[in-house]
Amino acid sequence: MESIYIPHLLAVPEKTLSISVEAFLPNLETLTPVRGILQVKHCTTYLEVTAKIEAIATLVCDRCLQNYNHRLRVETTELIWLEEEAESLAREREVRIDDLSETLSPTGHFQSEAWLYEQLSLAMPLQKNCGEQCQGMTQLPKDNEPIIDSRWASLAALKSVLEE
Ligand SMILES: [Zn+2]
Repeated sequence: MESIYIPHLLAVPEKTLSISVEAFLPNLETLTPVRGILQVKHCTTYLEVTAKIEAIATLVCDRCLQNYNHRLRVETTELIWLEEEAESLAREREVRIDDLSETLSPTGHFQSEAWLYEQLSLAMPLQKNCGEQCQGMTQLPKDNEPIIDSRWASLAALKSVLEE
């Protein structure tokens, strides 16, 4: 996927570029290609980036350690400031009261692939759970089996010997 040269957006109709996405992203293991729409709009002082994408990823369940498929869905809009580095450094000392989190040079490139990767990474579940049929950790004792400290276990063994 090619990066977008930001000044180029000023020359396209409505200063908006819509890209249909169907690609595997580097460093992101997905079963299906990442599919959807990426839209980048030039709003003079900022870019408005909208994505509606999805992919199926194979994850490992935290509990039973089995692989399972998970549908990643991203529907998001992010605003990215356009300003030169010197300006952005000056602004960073001020208190930020807006939600414009990133900054790009107005004559630079928007790295669409890296941006999509970031969005999909954020969409990964924090707790991976294969679902309701999850068998859980089979090695752990069941709830009704008391966990016996090994020192007490040897005492108990001694006690049963003495009682015989
Ligand atoms: Zn599981």
